[in-house]
Amino acid sequence: MVEFRKNYHFYTALILLLLGLLLAFFSGLQFKMSQEEDIYPAPGLSRINRLSDYFPALAGTPGDTKVFIFEGPEKGANVLITGGTHPNEPAGFLTAAVLIENIQVKRGKMVIIPRANASGFTCNDPMDASLQRFYFETMGGRRQFRFGSRLTNPVHQWPDPTLYENPAGQMLSGSEVRNLNRCYPGRPHGYLTEKVAFGIMEMIRQEKIDLGVDLHESAPEYPVINAIVFHDNSAELAAMAQIALQAEGLDFRLEASPVNLRGLSHREWGDVAGIKAVLIETPNPAQGRLKGKTTLALVVEGKDKDYLKASRLGRLFIPYDENGVPLSERVSRHLAALAAVLESWNEMDSENQIDISGLPDWKELLEKGVEAFLQPPKK
Ligand SMILES: [Zn+2]
Repeated sequence: MVEFRKNYHFYTALILLLLGLLLAFFSGLQFKMSQEEDIYPAPGLSRINRLSDYFPALAGTPGDTKVFIFEGPEKGANVLITGGTHPNEPAGFLTAAVLIENIQVKRGKMVIIPRANASGFTCNDPMDASLQRFYFETMGGRRQFRFGSRLTNPVHQWPDPTLYENPAGQMLSGSEVRNLNRCYPGRPHGYLTEKVAFGIMEMIRQEKIDLGVDLHESAPEYPVINAIVFHDNSAELAAMAQIALQAEGLDFRLEASPVNLRGLSHREWGDVAGIKAVLIETPNPAQGRLKGKTTLALVVEGKDKDYLKASRLGRLFIPYDENGVPLSERVSRHLAALAAVLESWNEMDSENQIDISGLPDWKELLEKGVEAFLQPPKK
């Protein structure tokens, strides 16, 4: 008895330590944010590269990411599509995945990066209690995807400076050093996110890209929403696409990329790489500041009672009712805008065309849901 009392603190500490280890073990099993989900490319895929094939310094880093290339039998325009620049904007990633699983290129080349900021897919935004994953039920089973963070994982890039001067010379708040869409044109010896931006610029150069389309989402209370943002060199292209979309009953506003807002894809791809560049925005209530609890219904169906209230008070820049803005609707809008941009491209440049089959029709996707255009899981 005396002996036990003497060692009492020792045993308590031992038990607590073992409990702590058990807890870490089981939460480790459950936490699989670093595991990348499969994308099942359509048979027309030519090859899968990695960003490190264009910029070798990225090899073995959390910034390296897959580059899916569809090359047609005939030479034509080379188009880049990026999703997942901001991994908390799921329609961007999902549209890229749907393209990879469905398209075939007959003329030209389509280069698709579904997870542009791969590191951002391995964590969530702090204090947001976000979901780790969301899913869709296909005919052959469930397809799950991660809901990531707007920024690079701080485990991969830390600490942030107090103020950040980006490669284009703009002063920003410190955390923007982990925002891929503020780091263009990148720095070869800079922060990880700047290296990813540099890798994308290198890929644009080496694959001889003519047009870049960056897929994003924004919060319903943010004015740049349901929009096509365009570089000054792409004004006509964007305007033609907007008219075509309007004729189909889809409202998109046009936003010129501000000349003094530097480091963004739609600015630096045009200025530095000299390609045509547009960015497409759809509404995502799961990333806004007015949302309630981040539930699966909020991420997948875009339904949130607080946004409904905000809408009734006239605080939102989109129409919003009890039907929400489901991910299927947002992917459908991205596809419609992309199809309109490509069509306008072909109308403007008869020499250098892009011809794609299998691009899901936006109305059909809206009707059947995004799950109808995802392959069933292979294992
Ligand atoms: Zn974004």
